[in-house]
Amino acid sequence: MKIEHLGIAVKSLKDSDDLFAKLLGKPAYKREKVEREGVTTSFYQTGDSKIELLEASNPDSPIAKFLEKKGEGIHHIAFGVEDIYAEIERLKSAGFIFISEEPKDGADNKLVVFLHPKSTNGVLVELCQEK
Ligand code: ZN
Repeated sequence: MKIEHLGIAVKSLKDSDDLFAKLLGKPAYKREKVEREGVTTSFYQTGDSKIELLEASNPDSPIAKFLEKKGEGIHHIAFGVEDIYAEIERLKSAGFIFISEEPKDGADNKLVVFLHPKSTNGVLVELCQEK
């Protein structure tokens, strides 16, 4: 598995887009709203990996709750996989717990699934597969 992207929770995508464009020396290649997840995202290419900025698009969004509890910062680490269904089975047999075992449509044209942080040292882990 390679690190496909790091997800960073931000309060204001507008402010953070300015900051990350300055930091990385180039603008986001994509901005996308994922209505079902209550997030708006910006993506930056950084070598073979990406940075995903996440802003809550409504007050009930998991990102709004994360910001309330922990403030801005790293929200999840995403590993790119070839066969998400096989990886779910492999990790389930190894004792990992998933937030939901059914992959869903995520941002950036991916199928995504999340492991529960309580089974991964407090880190929210996303598996993603190119659609
Ligand atoms: Zn992600």
